[in-house]
Amino acid sequence: MPDVRAAEVLETDVLVVGGGAAGLACAVAAARQGRRVILLERYGFSGGAAVAGLSGTICGLYAASDRRNAEPEQVVHGFVDEFIAAMEARGGLTGPVQYGKTYVRVHDPLVWREASDALLGAEGNIRVLYHVTVTGVLAEGDHVRGVTAFTKQGPLEVRARITVDASGDADVAAMAGRTLTKGRDGAIQNPTMIFRILGVDMARFLAAHGPDSILDERVMKLIQELNASGAYRLPRAKIFLFPTPRPGELICNATRIVGADGRELDATRIADLSEAEIEGRKQVREYARFIRDHIAGCEASFVNDTGVQVGIRQTWQIVGRDLLKNEDVTSARKHADGICRSPWPIELHSGEKPKLHWILDDYYEIPLGCFLPATGTGLVMAGRCLSAEHEAMASARVTAQCFGYGQAMGLVADQLCDNPAALPSGSDIRAALNALGAQLN
Ligand SMILES: Cc1cc2nc3c(=O)[nH]c(=O)nc-3n(C[C@H](O)[C@H](O)[C@H](O)COP(=O)(O)OP(=O)(O)OC[C@H]3O[C@@H](n4cnc5c(N)ncnc54)[C@H](O)[C@@H]3O)c2cc1C
Repeated sequence: MPDVRAAEVLETDVLVVGGGAAGLACAVAAARQGRRVILLERYGFSGGAAVAGLSGTICGLYAASDRRNAEPEQVVHGFVDEFIAAMEARGGLTGPVQYGKTYVRVHDPLVWREASDALLGAEGNIRVLYHVTVTGVLAEGDHVRGVTAFTKQGPLEVRARITVDASGDADVAAMAGRTLTKGRDGAIQNPTMIFRILGVDMARFLAAHGPDSILDERVMKLIQELNASGAYRLPRAKIFLFPTPRPGELICNATRIVGADGRELDATRIADLSEAEIEGRKQVREYARFIRDHIAGCEASFVNDTGVQVGIRQTWQIVGRDLLKNEDVTSARKHADGICRSPWPIELHSGEKPKLHWILDDYYEIPLGCFLPATGTGLVMAGRCLSAEHEAMASARVTAQCFGYGQAMGLVADQLCDNPAALPSGSDIRAALNALGAQLN
């Protein structure tokens, strides 16, 4: 029997589904064009994978380099600068922290929620509704007119001139029957349960392990030996530990969640997702034990918390009007209709050691068509569910880029409000982004 409670019906210009990095930037950008915006988010806060998944850092800001002592060179700008300023003002972001040949900035996920609330609240024309899970689309033929959702109050219907799917998982596109892809030949990147430990003697940790948050070959070898001896069960040997803005704290990106039968788990399947949560919690305890017993400065450390959910890198992606190819990333290709830059390596989480393919002293650009579904109107995408090949997605999915995609798609949504069939040109959006400080020159 369907829900018998009366449905609430809302109307808006731009509807954004998902309050991750992309959804936040999109909502703010569209609102600044004077549009009425509604943002729906299934959790009680914004932040998505960065907060609920406790991703830990803002990646994708700085050029990578082989030059010794290369200073951090920020090559990605736009809304992300504003977000960084909001985080810094609240003490929620470190300076650049070394990650292999590049740098990241480590964030406090609680402060992220507060910074998001402030940015969304400042506009005056964004209505944020938390604890709303989108369950269906309103459509006329191939034209999306909004969504239906589950709330604790009862059913919700939001009618919109344009809907932006910033769900990370392409949920709305899936419900609307748009064509989607997932990984390559069944291969998808493995989930990771990120956790935080407190009680670290940071001076001793840094003295022993140096500034690089990717722990070195010695640690990798030790993990392999301890696994072989049966003393531990640590399915990933290459681990990342990041000092956070809070004293004595490390964010640990270490686990590698695979199924009991050894296959990569697929978070679009509920049985796999449930297995990932349970296995993730077990692995957190095992890695925390290893860190406490074998990593200098961590002898008195203890687990503070994990993500609200297991971190999901890859699920459904849209088949778009354009496709970001692996070769576009490795050859640092630029596009006249590029709406965002990325200097981030291909960081493919599959197998015992995440694979890193660096783009040195350069960056590639992501064309607008990667966010425009190949068919239909009324619905566009923002965030990690872009149209991209498997390895390309393993680069293009990170946070600084998701802010960039969101900002661009907020401008696109504004233009589509007046004529949903007249797709904006990427070069026009690029110019508009430049006028807003994106520095895509
Ligand atoms: C384990 C892990 C580690 C990572 N580490 C880093 C890192 O260190 N640095 C970095 O830059 N990036 C990292 N990433 C990648 C990065 O965090 C994400 O790719 C990025 O945050 C994605 O942003 P997004 O806005 O596209 O999607 P998301 O952040 O996933 O946001 C989507 C939002 O939509 C909501 N939503 C989904 N479905 C619905 C629905 N049906 N109804 C309502 N709301 C819905 C979700 O709750 C979520 O808030 C990591 C990712 C993972 C999984």
